[in-house]
Amino acid sequence: MSAVTTVEPHYASTRNACKLCSPLGACIAMRGIEGCIPLLHGSQGCSTYIRRYGISHFREPIDIASSNFTEQTTIFGGKENLFTALDNISRFYRPAAIGVASTCLSETIGENLPMYIKQYESERASGLRNNGGCNPVVFFASTPSYKGTHMDGFHEAVYAAVSVLAKKSANEGRINVVSNFVSAEDLRHLRDILDSFSAPYTLLPDYSESLDGASWETYQKLPSGGTAISDIEKMGGARATICLGSSLPSERDAGAFLRDRFGVECEYLDLPIGIENCDRFFEALSRVSAKQSADRFVKERGRLIDAYIDGHKYVGGKRAIVYGEEDFVAAIASFLDEIGVIPVIAATGAQSARFRERVRAALKNCREETEVIDDTDFVSILAKAKRRECDFIIGHSKGLYIARELGVPLVRCGFPIHDRIGAQRILHLGYRGTLNLFDLVCNALMEAKQDQAAAGYTYI
Ligand code: SF4
Repeated sequence: MSAVTTVEPHYASTRNACKLCSPLGACIAMRGIEGCIPLLHGSQGCSTYIRRYGISHFREPIDIASSNFTEQTTIFGGKENLFTALDNISRFYRPAAIGVASTCLSETIGENLPMYIKQYESERASGLRNNGGCNPVVFFASTPSYKGTHMDGFHEAVYAAVSVLAKKSANEGRINVVSNFVSAEDLRHLRDILDSFSAPYTLLPDYSESLDGASWETYQKLPSGGTAISDIEKMGGARATICLGSSLPSERDAGAFLRDRFGVECEYLDLPIGIENCDRFFEALSRVSAKQSADRFVKERGRLIDAYIDGHKYVGGKRAIVYGEEDFVAAIASFLDEIGVIPVIAATGAQSARFRERVRAALKNCREETEVIDDTDFVSILAKAKRRECDFIIGHSKGLYIARELGVPLVRCGFPIHDRIGAQRILHLGYRGTLNLFDLVCNALMEAKQDQAAAGYTYI
């Protein structure tokens, strides 16, 4: 009898991508700068898609301007459209900054946006533009989506803003924290943690208010909130930069720029999810600020350990699939390992040489082989998932159909979450955020057990 070999069909295309468009990440980061409006250099469809994605997650209006490419612009170039867009935005929104991001189309036809922006600024300085006397800072993030993910766009936008705005300034013990694509609630919690160390700081970007603010009496063209431009300017004089997420490219990230240009010490940390990662984050803040963590965070850590003890019988030995952004997956894998869950598959749509090594380093207790996959899509994840037993999946809402196929619960976290209310208020970071995730995981497993039991349980 001959052995049967199954040959997987080879697809060159991505099917049901496990990543999002690069300018989308740039737009979210730009909305985290006070008075900044994103402008996409490309066709209207790109900004419409990104607005729809952002609005469905944050449940807030998100204005994203477009230079509105047409067939002619695609052939002859979009310089005039860009200049008109910069004029119109300056007149109607009167922003403090305009973040220009490229799109697949403008990158493909080779638009030289740094040169265009210089020419525009020169015309503006000569009084030749119809900009209503408003002269916002203009910065540019190159975000071709065909070779990057929303995380590349996010980091590129932060880098672009810092490289244009940061200045050498007096060291007043300031701490820079470069955040990641986290929830609005995470950013509020980070601010709370940073406030507790009583040192001046710049948290960049910070869309905790601009993308999750209070309701308005009258429509605001530019919602309040965001990192103040004056605080970004001071980043060049900080004592240190802490970058959340170790997936950053080494040459085009804000931390590396501040280190190389201004000599600001820079440290890359995994997202503070799980006790070990949180400890490292608090230790770094203690060291840089020369202050102890506040007692309430020590108590939060204690409550988290207590919860781990209370809930271990529900999660110990369970098997999970985690997917999403590289930093998010690495941090969640570490958290799962900490609570005794086996991450059987850890997957990201990003192409990353370091992903495997990072996830493996995070798994200190797991005795079973974890399939670590980068540059993948949901069709491939599902094919692999069908060969592994699994009790739940954890990630954003695009994984719902995998959960359905496997008949297991989906623990929703990360971005995007389009099928539930409150995505922007999910807390993932810090001891308190980890506790929230732990409760979500435990309760999802308990609910699944309850649903599957014919007799039902009211006491598990
Ligand atoms: S064309 Fe490119 S930039 Fe535009 S929405 Fe699609 S992936 Fe994003």
